[in-house]
Amino acid sequence: MAKKAREIVVNPRLCKGCHICIAVCPHSVLEKSESVDNRGFFLPSVADLDACKVCHICEMHCPDFAIRVVSEE
Ligand code: SF4
Ligand code: SF4
Repeated sequence: MAKKAREIVVNPRLCKGCHICIAVCPHSVLEKSESVDNRGFFLPSVADLDACKVCHICEMHCPDFAIRVVSEE
């Protein structure tokens, strides 16, 4: 059975809003959040959790180890 994501967690202290994770996700799961954080960064947010295939590409490309995909299991 295909893996499903239970949660996608972005660490607000590590993420610098570069949006690489948004660009590399092959399933358009992530999007730029609408609100800016207290450092002036637009962190990524989850647009469509059900579309996530838990491929971990976003994690592998994040330069700051700031995103983690938790699978259902
Ligand atoms: S790639 Fe990492 S640092 Fe860049 S926006 Fe995504 S989670 Fe944040
Ligand atoms: S694990 Fe894969 S499908 Fe899920 S958000 Fe990351 S890159 Fe997209």
